[in-house]
Amino acid sequence: MQCIDRIADLRRAVKAARQDGRKIGLVPTMGALHRGHAALIAQAAEDSCFTVVSIFINPAQFGPNEDLDLYPRTLERDLQVAAEAGADLVFAPVAAEIYPSGFNTWVEVGGSLTDCLCGAFRPGHFRGVATIVLKLFNMTDPDQAYFGEKDYQQLQVVRRFVQDLNLPLKIMPVPTVREADGLAMSSRNKYLSPEERSVAPWLYKALRAAAEAATSGEGDIHAIRCHALEIIASQPALQLEYLEIVDSESLQPLHELCPGAVMLAAARLGNTRLIDNIKLI
Ligand code: AMP
Repeated sequence: MQCIDRIADLRRAVKAARQDGRKIGLVPTMGALHRGHAALIAQAAEDSCFTVVSIFINPAQFGPNEDLDLYPRTLERDLQVAAEAGADLVFAPVAAEIYPSGFNTWVEVGGSLTDCLCGAFRPGHFRGVATIVLKLFNMTDPDQAYFGEKDYQQLQVVRRFVQDLNLPLKIMPVPTVREADGLAMSSRNKYLSPEERSVAPWLYKALRAAAEAATSGEGDIHAIRCHALEIIASQPALQLEYLEIVDSESLQPLHELCPGAVMLAAARLGNTRLIDNIKLI
């Protein structure tokens, strides 16, 4: 597995792989790779892609008071994880390679997808995400790009601009990889103290209880939401930002339970922000 940091080298490597008849798979990440990332990489490799993993902590998607400076940077270990999962190439550029001075163009997906849920708490976040993802698509020209369902709103934002801008690639969603106790794996879980770590799985417990209620016949969307809210309220350390039942594509709130209903939640636990989601039916 090669590791490069220049866009020109990325283009050269992708071109050579294409000439060898390979399909190109891209896995965009911010590093601090864990089993969740490895599942995306392994899926791309299993799909017979020449698998490119980008590792870039994108300053444009962090708000002024967010954790950009603290975000874990573990490149040596990441290279090992990527190689073991089946990556062919890691692209780990510095910020100046991606945002040279004078950079002044942004990708803005419409507010109905980006102002709600995480977007309401992280203004500008999805503009930063859409911009870096489109730039990575333009640099790599992948046939397929892999995204985790854990970041559900991000997945829908990416799907939207791929469709709206007629990009010739397929978005491949990958189910959330969890710890044994249900906590969704995340690079930010490293911030949790042992005490916080023991509380963290309650977010998913609440979502799962809601999904179980829905599948066992509870049809009242308000009752399902209240059930999850009560479970979260039983853990005062979990400071809920939002918990909503929305349509899986438009992300608009649902007033009745119907196929495609997804529950999305975000909560703060100390200084760490947790997000998770579950399909209800
Ligand atoms: P990040 O490095 O957090 O920006 O994540 C890079 C990609 O990995 C995104 O598509 C995430 O949705 C995905 N990802 C992160 N955590 C998980 C997980 N626990 N399970 C599946 N995919 C994940």
